[in-house]
Amino acid sequence: MKKSAEKSRKIPLWKNTRRLFAMVWKYTPSYVICMVLEGVLWGIANSLGIIYTQYLFDAIGNGEPFSQVAKIIVAYGIYLIFFNLLHTLYWNLYNSWIRKKLQTCLHEELFRQAVRIDPEKYDDPEFYNDFVWAMDEAAPNVEGTVEATGKIINRIVASLTLTAVLFGVDVWMAVLIFILSALRIVLSFWANRVSLRYREEMNPLWRKSDYINRLFLLPDYAKDLRVSQVVPILHKEFRENSEQAEVLIRKHERKISVVWFMINFLYALGECGLLILMLYKASVLKTIGLGSLAVAVNACWKMVWLLRDFSDRITKFHKHGIFVDKMFVFLDSVPTLREGPEEAGAFESLEFYDVSFSYPAKDGERKEVLSGVSFSFRRGEKIAVVGYNGAGKTTLTKLIMRLYDPDGGQILYNGRPLADYTFDSLRNRMGAVFQDYRIFGATLAENVAGGVYHPSMEESVRQALRQSTFDEKAEVLKDGLDTLLTREFDKNGTQLSGGEQQKVALARAFYRNSDLIILDEPSSALDPDAEYALNRSVYDYADARTVVFISHRLSTTRHADRIYMFDSGKIAEQGTHEELMALDGKYAKMFRVQAEKYQRES
Ligand code: ADP
Repeated sequence: MKKSAEKSRKIPLWKNTRRLFAMVWKYTPSYVICMVLEGVLWGIANSLGIIYTQYLFDAIGNGEPFSQVAKIIVAYGIYLIFFNLLHTLYWNLYNSWIRKKLQTCLHEELFRQAVRIDPEKYDDPEFYNDFVWAMDEAAPNVEGTVEATGKIINRIVASLTLTAVLFGVDVWMAVLIFILSALRIVLSFWANRVSLRYREEMNPLWRKSDYINRLFLLPDYAKDLRVSQVVPILHKEFRENSEQAEVLIRKHERKISVVWFMINFLYALGECGLLILMLYKASVLKTIGLGSLAVAVNACWKMVWLLRDFSDRITKFHKHGIFVDKMFVFLDSVPTLREGPEEAGAFESLEFYDVSFSYPAKDGERKEVLSGVSFSFRRGEKIAVVGYNGAGKTTLTKLIMRLYDPDGGQILYNGRPLADYTFDSLRNRMGAVFQDYRIFGATLAENVAGGVYHPSMEESVRQALRQSTFDEKAEVLKDGLDTLLTREFDKNGTQLSGGEQQKVALARAFYRNSDLIILDEPSSALDPDAEYALNRSVYDYADARTVVFISHRLSTTRHADRIYMFDSGKIAEQGTHEELMALDGKYAKMFRVQAEKYQRES
């Protein structure tokens, strides 16, 4: 695989942050308020400890009576108890709850967008990888940004109040600490800029290793990984990717460690100088008391910690920003397929006029898979679209369901372009079963109903299962209609065979009671007897409904009213089975080859 030449785009960090807070405010305004309040109050509280130390030491140094000193200690104790109570309530009760609430709202927004984006986007690997990343990482990184912002506010308030307290003690000490802090902040911003550039360069490498990880993780790939020779190639890719990452790590980490060493060295120098100055004033000049010395020592240590943490938070803020940006890129993806205002009425006719279509291919080019396709069918007809693999049959289905728009020509539903209708009204009129149907980790009844199931729907669900010839199997499942399918959520879930899954997917199409049923090779995983029973059932059930059978197994489609033979994206022949056999063309040849093969096998 060639080295990634991807150039990372510049992340609009501040614009994204403003937008992120508007989003968090929309879903959980109290989270934003509490985050700011917590940051400010906690920041002030940091300095209270220092003021307390000063009072305590000054009281002791001035020879105050024991009762007076004890009062100071008790007052601070009460304050600590109250503050810790507040702290526990905030973090353990409120914060966990509000974050869960935010996560739910965010995921719902992402789910809404996931079904809005053009199906074409799934063919763009860069977009797809970012999409998976956004879905996985959006919530923790949005929360991470909010939390990091709270901490940054906290550290700024704490540093400012600390500096103010120090002003009250000794102006020079305050000025020196202020200069040291400002220097450290400027230098750490610079260090962060280096880190950010580093992460941007690492981004494509992370993306690739993430993709390889996913291949080993997802059940869809498990079989192929075992039976193909792809594993050594993936290992090689992964290793090469890691080697490229190591080069980047060495290059940037060296620079970053030099910067951080300089920052810490300068700060240590400043800190020593400050303490020597304060000690000199306390023990030689005697111009400040014990309390002020304690404040100076304490404040120095606290300031070092605050500033180090401040830099860490800024780094985290940037890190979260990369993921947050991916989320916004995904949310901003505007679907190019636009729906029309009309409600699609009961199906009457579908017409293709000179339709052509191409998929995006490498380097921005397109690969034409359908050209000059013209045909039509009316209500009640049973139509077959046949041809070898890759002829363009499934693409035709996607165009009928308006998952894609054609590049040229027109598709009319009831005499009007598909684009005139709303997506929902159009797709609700159609029940489709694709080759790559999916069974969801839900009960059998929910899988058939295609959503929420209620006992009042039982009869319709059972009828759909009868029509797809799955009723007998449904009877023997341990929990009947409530049987949980797949082991995704429950290790005791029922794993159906490929053929059984197809029948459930078919039952879903029947349940919808659609006018137009499109069966895209739904019987490919069935044995010949089961396939025959299923087809009979479809014919019996379909009755006045329109059915489009798409298949490369011609035995399943010979009874259709009209057969369209596709070849290389064009309609090569059309007619009834008898007419096409009499024509003795491509269809007849394909049919004879399959019949011979079937006879040999049986
Ligand atoms: P069939 O259903 O007849 O087997 P398809 O309609 O699935 O054929 O595919 C027709 C052609 O379009 C094939 O060459 C296939 O490789 C290509 N194709 C299908 N889907 C995509 C896609 N998402 N992106 C790029 N090419 C595709």
